[in-house]
Amino acid sequence: MNTPAFFDSLTEQKPDPLLELIAKFAADPRSGKIDLGVGVYRDETGRTPVMRAVKAAEHYLWETQESKSYIGPEGDPAFLRALALEVFGERHGGRLLAGIQTPGGTGALRLAAELLALDNRRKIWIGTPTWVNHQAIFAAVGLQVGTYRFFDIDKQAVLIDEMLTTLQDAAPGDAVLLQTSCHNPTGAGLSQQNWRDIAAIIASNGLLPLFDNAYQGLGRGPIEDAAGMIGVIETVGEAMVAVSCSKSFSLYRERTGAVYLFGDQQASLNKGVGNLASHARTSYSMPPAHGAAIVAAILQNPSRRQVWVDELREMRIRIAEIRGAAAKAFGQFHPELANIASQEGMFSLLPIPPENVRQLRAEHGIYMPDSGRINVAGMRVEDVASVAERIGPYLA
Ligand code: PMP
Repeated sequence: MNTPAFFDSLTEQKPDPLLELIAKFAADPRSGKIDLGVGVYRDETGRTPVMRAVKAAEHYLWETQESKSYIGPEGDPAFLRALALEVFGERHGGRLLAGIQTPGGTGALRLAAELLALDNRRKIWIGTPTWVNHQAIFAAVGLQVGTYRFFDIDKQAVLIDEMLTTLQDAAPGDAVLLQTSCHNPTGAGLSQQNWRDIAAIIASNGLLPLFDNAYQGLGRGPIEDAAGMIGVIETVGEAMVAVSCSKSFSLYRERTGAVYLFGDQQASLNKGVGNLASHARTSYSMPPAHGAAIVAAILQNPSRRQVWVDELREMRIRIAEIRGAAAKAFGQFHPELANIASQEGMFSLLPIPPENVRQLRAEHGIYMPDSGRINVAGMRVEDVASVAERIGPYLA
């Protein structure tokens, strides 16, 4: 009798397209090649350095840490307190909050998704295009994923009316995923009026907002970037927030993040966190400690915190400079791309068909995913014009 081979029944999984792109870039021998694909911040020399504040915190930890014994599934309470103060401010929208440390922003989103499923939520609404992992995370826990068009790539504009109409028609109890700032992949920001309209519909329709907060401080500023989210928390009363420290502390591989729950009853929030913790316990037991210890050591120490605030500002200023140059250079080929200047964070989405993306890669060694998303921080300011000259003819 033939026994089936090990894992015979499984479906073959495709490698992650972005990781494939990184490998292709690495293997390209051309000296003028340029990587606009990878989603990490790059400085003017093309590096993703360890932040000075992080180095200082690691030095401090090396000198003072006395044990690497277990922490709990909830993680480090000092980290959770310090991060909440930094992200949400002292008032945190006038609501109570409770949080749990997670392995990065992805871990935070997955844990939040698990809680939505445990809470018998039916559906989550997501604007498209969005970060490639979003749909899969929510589908993985059995939630229905409803989508609406969020952004017109050709016009480089947010489709706020489509968004508001969808939220108007969503069923009470449904969840809504919102990116706090620096939208991935479009860079599109929402106005204060947009946020007020969104908050009003979420409140009147009884929806639950889940914020994906992965880029705070890389857009307009740390407080400005959170303002829309805080307004929604204030108006709606209940919310979940997945925070990633990957970009704002440049801690990518340390897997540092948190989920916070907001509401008016501490007992319900504690029950929510208890369920998150019990899910963590059966998944990975407890989150990795090092990144969170670094973040706590930065935020709790005024001089290290000041170094971090200054570095984050340097990153923001560099991104704004590249955006200014890119808006001018790309705007010559497609006038609406002048909006790159007012978009925020690392990403913008070019109107470029996938076959042209591949052609561009083959002919000019310019790498971006098939979606046409570019990481503006992948360019040096002085190279922007020549990169735009090469990309321009391929734009739709
Ligand atoms: N949300 C968004 C919008 C992102 O772009 C990313 C990272 N690319 C994440 C969440 C996940 O971040 P992390 O690396 O902390 O898991």
